[in-house]
Amino acid sequence: MNQLEQLIIERIRSSQPLSVAEYMGLALGHAEHGYYMSRDPFGKNGDFVTAPEISQMFGELLGLWAAVVWQGMAAPENINLVELGPGRGTLMADMLRAGFAATGFHEAVRVHMVETSPALKILQQQALEGIDLARPAQWHNTFDSLPDGPAIVIANEFFDALPIEQYFHAGDYWCPRVVDIKPDGDGLCFVLLPPFDALELPPGLLDSPPDTVVEVCPAGLDMVEKISRRISGQGGTALIIDYGHGESGAGDTLQAVKNHDRHHPLTDPGEADLTAHVDFGALGQRAFASGARAHGVVGQGAFLERLGIHERAEALMANASAEQAEDITAAVGRLTGAAEMGELFKVMAITGIDAPPPPGFG
Ligand code: SAH
Repeated sequence: MNQLEQLIIERIRSSQPLSVAEYMGLALGHAEHGYYMSRDPFGKNGDFVTAPEISQMFGELLGLWAAVVWQGMAAPENINLVELGPGRGTLMADMLRAGFAATGFHEAVRVHMVETSPALKILQQQALEGIDLARPAQWHNTFDSLPDGPAIVIANEFFDALPIEQYFHAGDYWCPRVVDIKPDGDGLCFVLLPPFDALELPPGLLDSPPDTVVEVCPAGLDMVEKISRRISGQGGTALIIDYGHGESGAGDTLQAVKNHDRHHPLTDPGEADLTAHVDFGALGQRAFASGARAHGVVGQGAFLERLGIHERAEALMANASAEQAEDITAAVGRLTGAAEMGELFKVMAITGIDAPPPPGFG
């Protein structure tokens, strides 16, 4: 049993079971033992690989997307380019390298990274070191400390790391599913609390079948509300890319991954990545309720194809060795293939209420 598990057990003993969101928040974000707080989880030697780590094409296409979005806003003199949960910083670095090809974008861009992990913040600073920026990039612990002004907000595999709550549909009522100590005291287990009535669930979840688990992500909904209010008040566009479902639906999707393999979510907290499917249906509803407009969802494969991934791959292949060409073809397959990331991963944009669909959503 690791130290974080011991801490969690002590905490439950001295008060009460943890909600799934409290557990997830500790496993990922505990200041000392949280999964993201002290390590670099990405890549072949890590626990999982994200799209920007698969190929530079991903970030390059998003960089060009951001530049076109900026032009569509009549190219404001200052644009905040905000990334939520930037991981190793690879995505932002690739975006800037490609986006700066657009005249004036380099002078206009103010880079803002929203990141809670001190270890990843250092990697992000290193990733941006070689890039010539008109103003130094800034780091923020929360979305709330961003400066005013129009913003282009990018979040790749960020929302799946935000803590979810789970409820069990027991026929006529809903029971919170929480984390408790196993009866023998040796580890953690899920238990159900007595039902309560006043549960606010997205409409799509209220009529889910009995004997199923449903999930709500309060932190994700709050974040979309903040993004939407900001965009409808000050201008801009957000792009959310993640794995999940386009419409709210029942199902236990909490999953842990360690060394590229499935792991029990309650074993070794802080040592495995813990994520849940993103409920884009619920996020889109919250965007509308907050005065903004949600576009999509579009599958990641279709989105990247509309942005020109095949053309970009061909251009890279013109100067590639046979081995590099194979890597490029494989990367396109992983990012867009229906059995790979192309359909499970989805893309949603948030704009002002009257704005036309951004590139890739038309
Ligand atoms: N976007 C990156 C990394 C995704 S992993 C990529 O595509 O490779 C999730 C990222 O979100 C990590 O950088 C993690 O430290 C960060 N993160 C998780 N919860 C956060 C929170 N509440 N606020 C800010 N960053 C958070």
